[in-house]
Amino acid sequence: MAGEAEQQLRAYLEYLRDMGVHDFYRQGDPVSAEVRETPPPVATIAAVEEQEAAPVSNRPAFLEPPIATLVSFNDLAPLPESRVAPAHKADALVAIKEEIGDCTRCPLAYAGRRTIVFGDGDANARLMFVGEGPGADEDTSGVPFVGKAGQLLNNMIQAMGLKREQVYIANIVKCRPPANRVPEPVEANTCDQFLLQQIDVVQPQVVVALGATAAMYLLGVKQSLSSLRGRWHSCRGAKLAVTYHPAFLLRDPRQKSEAWKDLQMVMAEMGLKAPAKS
Ligand code: SF4
Repeated sequence: MAGEAEQQLRAYLEYLRDMGVHDFYRQGDPVSAEVRETPPPVATIAAVEEQEAAPVSNRPAFLEPPIATLVSFNDLAPLPESRVAPAHKADALVAIKEEIGDCTRCPLAYAGRRTIVFGDGDANARLMFVGEGPGADEDTSGVPFVGKAGQLLNNMIQAMGLKREQVYIANIVKCRPPANRVPEPVEANTCDQFLLQQIDVVQPQVVVALGATAAMYLLGVKQSLSSLRGRWHSCRGAKLAVTYHPAFLLRDPRQKSEAWKDLQMVMAEMGLKAPAKS
């Protein structure tokens, strides 16, 4: 009974997370906890100037930089001056994979991961999907989106008139967070250098962020999914759309029609047509 209650609570928290209610879900987030408990003091210009001139050790907390800063993929690095030619993209992706190696650059290397889930699909894809991180099935297989959520993503891709082999799929982090929790900023901010390179090599026309976490790290903003959906953003020279994570759609199938609206926006941009119904 206790296990069932725990499962229900976890499902509800994941629902809130998918809706972009990060602070409610996240535990131990020192920035948001501090903001919740201690309203920052009102800072006059004179007070701020005086404190900025003070030695760092004397500064009040509200003048210190946040512990985990969100930076959009656009601001992480300038766009490459030269682009990888289509014939060399597959090799360029292999080179990134080799650079990752048996990576131990962030804490997820020591959190029970079995496989580094690099990415999957066409190196010359026009469309790229980015999720949050590998789950149990992906951790076992080394391929992103292969479980139930992966099957739903495959269906979504087919409904857009494409095959899975024609798109590219990756995640914000390449190692499974324990218990499928949201990647911590230190993990995402360490791993994002590789996803950034993958996007720069593939050069998709459109990137689709699957879920609030992917959108948050790609765009460098912490906003609700509803405020990010239904309009275009930019990411590394590509247009970026935000929609629900397939795992969320499995938990709340009522939102599938909303996700379909997001995909139709992408299809219109890319000139894709839904396959005729047989
Ligand atoms: S999540 Fe990324 S940075 Fe962290 S250990 Fe895995 S591959 Fe390395």
